[in-house]
Amino acid sequence: MAVTAILVGAFVLISLFNYNVSRKNIHDEIVYSALPLTRDNIYSEIQAGIMRPIFVSSLMANDTFLQDWTAFGEKDPDAIQRYLSEIQDEYGFFSSFFVSVSTRNYYYQGGILKKVSERDRHDDWYYDFINSSEKYDLIVDTNEAASNILTIFINHRVQDHAGKFLGVTGVGLKMDKVSKLLDSFSKKYSKQIYLVDLSGIVQAHSDVDLAGKTNIKNMPGLKDVSDRLLRSSSTPAMFEFSVDGVKEYLTTRYIPEFEWILVVQQSEQAALGAARDNLSRTLMVGGGATLLILSLSIMTINHFQIRLEKQAGTDALTGVANRRLFEQRFECAMNDHRRSGKQFSLILLDIDDFKRINDLCGHLKGDTIIKDISAAISSAVRDADFCARWGGDEFIILVDGKVDIAMNVAERIRSFVYNSYKCSTASPEAEEIKITVSCGVSEFQDGDSLDSLALRADKAMYESKIRGKDQVVGG
Ligand code: GH3
Ligand code: MG
Repeated sequence: MAVTAILVGAFVLISLFNYNVSRKNIHDEIVYSALPLTRDNIYSEIQAGIMRPIFVSSLMANDTFLQDWTAFGEKDPDAIQRYLSEIQDEYGFFSSFFVSVSTRNYYYQGGILKKVSERDRHDDWYYDFINSSEKYDLIVDTNEAASNILTIFINHRVQDHAGKFLGVTGVGLKMDKVSKLLDSFSKKYSKQIYLVDLSGIVQAHSDVDLAGKTNIKNMPGLKDVSDRLLRSSSTPAMFEFSVDGVKEYLTTRYIPEFEWILVVQQSEQAALGAARDNLSRTLMVGGGATLLILSLSIMTINHFQIRLEKQAGTDALTGVANRRLFEQRFECAMNDHRRSGKQFSLILLDIDDFKRINDLCGHLKGDTIIKDISAAISSAVRDADFCARWGGDEFIILVDGKVDIAMNVAERIRSFVYNSYKCSTASPEAEEIKITVSCGVSEFQDGDSLDSLALRADKAMYESKIRGKDQVVGG
């Protein structure tokens, strides 16, 4: 039992220790490697995605065709349409446009879309931009972003050589790549990737349902770190928090062009899955193996214990019980007698003239005779009777029943031995000596002990010796 506890305890401890080491490694892997790498990868993709349209918008704004065409009164709308259409085709943007400050016409690759108006809320961007002192501006369409396709417009101020303000040109693009990246990184690394604005509203999320509607200040667990997160805009930062007891890690990076914060979040749970599986596998396989080894050991120990116990109660030469086991059996018979009045008797059997047999036939032959007589007794007694070697050439038999039954048993043995066994002397004449036994029989009486009962049987047996041996005498 103690060995089992030590083995199982040590095994479980080692498994848990390994699990904790894995857990620590996973923590370090997430915090120092996986999260920062994913964050910077996505950040670079976003940066690469917006550099080109900014560059193209700048080219358009400085294009003499656009400047001249505007300066000369926007005479040929087809020309600007072709120009915008070519830009759109060439660079693969979903829109390219020019808004003239003098006519307020909104030109795009399809012609004239509308006239911008201060009263139209959709045109706020235009008035906001021309009122700002910015050379160019980047506007993210948050409605589109909600369906996880970031739509970005780059607006660029157009001026003639003299610095006169002519209008606003630019392109609109869908940043599919960023969206796909959010998606694929989310799936690949079991991470949540999203962009939040500085007020905490989720603007783009790998989980589409969350984008546009949710504020991180209201999200479970996340709300505990949201204030610090939103303040951390200038430098990449790392946060830890718990949702329903599961640890979550997140890292942030501010994207100045959007004025949004990129957030990459990972749950420890998913990363720990493999380690957990491993732990349960180890516990199962190891536990099974430990139990198997233990049960085999217990079986082996039991087997040897039974053998030892048997040996301790067995006479080595004859294989029948020895005196020790007989004493136990006698105790049981006495208890039975006390409980149910069951009668029993003893036979004490001694080989006649055994010293002489040893002398004349040899000690080895003597051993064989002892074994033969033991076998004869075993086959003469019933299952309820019990035979043991009492000492040297003496056997004792506990017989279930009164003295007459025991006398019959003893007589059966005596006559069988008389008729069956003899030995030849080692002398040249090879004289044959008949083997005989003397038996004393006594019946258990109330108040008897093994000593007193055996003594009466011994006296009866001695009587047989006196009367000439090869006899059964009751005592
Ligand atoms: P009695 O008829 O009066 O019994 O005469 P006995 O010669 O048989 O005398 P006793 O029973 O006292 O002697 C027993 C002898 O049995 C003594 C010993 O040398 C011999 N003996 C005891 N154990 C063994 C044994 O394991 N093997 C052999 N071969 N002889 C044994
Ligand atoms: Mg004898």
